[in-house]
This record gives sequence, C-alpha cells and structure tokens, in this order.
Amino acid sequence: MIEREAPGGQAGMSSRIENYLGFPSGLTGADLARRAVMQAQRFGVEILSAEATGLRLEGPYRFVKLADESEISCHAMLIATGVQWRKLEVPGIERLTGAGVYYGAAQTEAMSCRDEDVFIVGGANSAGQAAMYFSKYARRVVMIVRGDSLAALMSQYLFDQIKQTENIHVEYNTQVTEVHGAERLEAITIHCAVSGETNKAPATSLFIFIGAMPHTEWLEGTVHRDERGFIISGPDLVRDGKRPAGWTLDRDPGLLETNVPGVFVVGDVRRGSVKRVASGVGEGSVAISFVHQYLSKVV
Ligand SMILES: Cc1cc2nc3c(=O)[nH]c(=O)nc-3n(C[C@H](O)[C@H](O)[C@H](O)COP(=O)(O)OP(=O)(O)OC[C@H]3O[C@@H](n4cnc5c(N)ncnc54)[C@H](O)[C@@H]3O)c2cc1C
Repeated sequence: MIEREAPGGQAGMSSRIENYLGFPSGLTGADLARRAVMQAQRFGVEILSAEATGLRLEGPYRFVKLADESEISCHAMLIATGVQWRKLEVPGIERLTGAGVYYGAAQTEAMSCRDEDVFIVGGANSAGQAAMYFSKYARRVVMIVRGDSLAALMSQYLFDQIKQTENIHVEYNTQVTEVHGAERLEAITIHCAVSGETNKAPATSLFIFIGAMPHTEWLEGTVHRDERGFIISGPDLVRDGKRPAGWTLDRDPGLLETNVPGVFVVGDVRRGSVKRVASGVGEGSVAISFVHQYLSKVV
C-alpha cells in the first residue's frame, strides 16, 4: 500500500463515525484508521510512505512512479486515492473545522443537529442532498448560495424537493465571510452581494459542500477520467457497444476496472461512488476478488 500522508484518509479526519457496521456507539476516524492499519499489517500488508506521481504501462506490467523518481512494478493495481474537499477560505475556518464546521459529511452529524438551525454552503447536488437530509432533523436549514439560482447546478428533482420543503430556506447571492467561536462554532458572518449587507448570525453547525476534487492528476494520459477528474470504471467505459481505446482483452472492462486492464478503482475517487466509509471498504473487498481473477489469467 502506497500512502503519501497517513493511512486513514478523510475518514481519519472525522470526529465520530457513527454509521460503520460493528461500532454501535461510533468511533473516531483516527481510531478506525489505527485499527485498520493494525489489521492490514497482521495480514502482511507493507505500507510505504510515498506519493504516486505517475503510471507507466509496459505489456502486462504496470509501473507506479513515485515522487523520488523510483518505480514499483505490478501486474494488478487498485486506485483508492480519494478526494479533497475544496476549502472555504475565510477567517476562523481552520480552527473551527471539526468543531461545528464540517466538509462533505452529513449523515453522521445530522442527529446531533436535532432542533437546531443548520447552515449549508453550496448550491450543487451534494449541498442539496445534505439540505434534504438535515431538514428531517434540524429546526431550519439555511442554504447559503453564491449564485442567484439553484437550477443551474442542481438536478431538477432535488431542486423541486427543496422548494417544497418548508424548513429549508435558500439565501441567494450570499457568502460566508467569517466564522466565529472560542472552542466551537458560535456564529457566522454572511455577506449579501446584492444588498451589500453584512450580518452576523448565531450558528452551531456549518456544512460546506463546494466541490470535491479527486486525486487523479497523476493518471493523466493513462486512466480515463470524467470532466471533473473522477475515474470512469466498468460498464461506463463501453460506449455504443465499443470498448475503450487501447483495450486489448476479448472481454469488456469488469466492474470497478478502469480502461487499463488490471487497474481497478474504488472509493470516493471512482465516478458515481457513494462517498462513505462502508462503501469504500465494500468496493475494496469486491475489487480484490476481481484482482485475483485477473492475476489468475495474466501471470
Ligand atoms: C470530515 C469528514 C467526515 C466524514 N465522516 C464520515 C462518516 O461519519 N461516515 C462515513 O461513512 N463517511 C464519512 N466521511 C466520508 C468518508 O471519509 C470517505 O467516503 C472515505 O474516507 C473515502 O475513502 P477513500 O479511501 O475512497 O478515500 P480517502 O479517504 O480520501 O483516502 C485517500 C487516501 O489516498 C491518499 N492519496 C491520494 N493521492 C495519493 C497519491 N498520489 N499517492 C499516495 N497516496 C495518495 C490520501 O493521502 C488518502 O489517505 C467523512 C468525510 C470527511 C471529510
């Protein structure tokens, strides 16, 4: 396993994971990561602290290039490089992230927002889905949207649901310009570009959904990605009955396989994935059985 920072990824940043099977009272992301590393090492996994910077293909071999210019060869490879949520750059945000300010997570925190006002930054589908989810628990959900409409960025069904949900309120042309709080989030400053007004509102929960950037720049020229950089896999690679360019095998790309035979993708970095710990873990275990099938034919 090649990891450039610390094993655990985004989950490692989560203050409490409540929805992972087997931990009825939840656990911190750091604890889950520590347990996973111990378990993987017990099964003989070697963890290399390095950054993958490129992929080179040569016959049945896949060479992972590392930042120090060295290369590691393999027959099969699993990409699980995840995403980075785009950061909201405003005063106070770094300090309060994890203490009332959250990126990209909703389900787990929703329960703790029961009967509170919840603020959501963003106007695309992930923000809309989170707003719908929170509306079941929170007293009021306020969406802070930079543009003057939701329709351009959001699926129509979600837009309709939001309009019909009484406790969701959308503030258009607005931005959060500062977050306040000693130990936890206590208030946010909101600026309206149309009226020019700036107001400070009491707030205990701020969820930020301003885009996920997949870690795939290092796959340029080898592995197919969509316009946002997410890796395309399985049946999505076959267009009008045609297999992807350069595909050499007499079968279609398998589920979770990329356009490069033997290179698989799982987790948040995969186009269309459900961005949750259990989904990533589940996809990983499915993909490994495909790796075994692939190796039994290629080696
Ligand atoms: C704050 C927060 C709270 C969350 N809470 C929950 C929750 O409660 N429940 C839940 O189910 N989900 C939660 N999620 C979502 C969940 O964490 C993700 O869905 C999950 O971690 C995705 O796992 P992944 O392995 O696909 O990617 P990631 O977790 O993003 O891991 C990718 C890893 O790859 C490494 N990497 C990237 N590029 C390279 C490279 N070029 N070379 C080497 N290494 C590289 C990164 O350093 C990282 O460690 C939360 C997310 C966040 C941000």
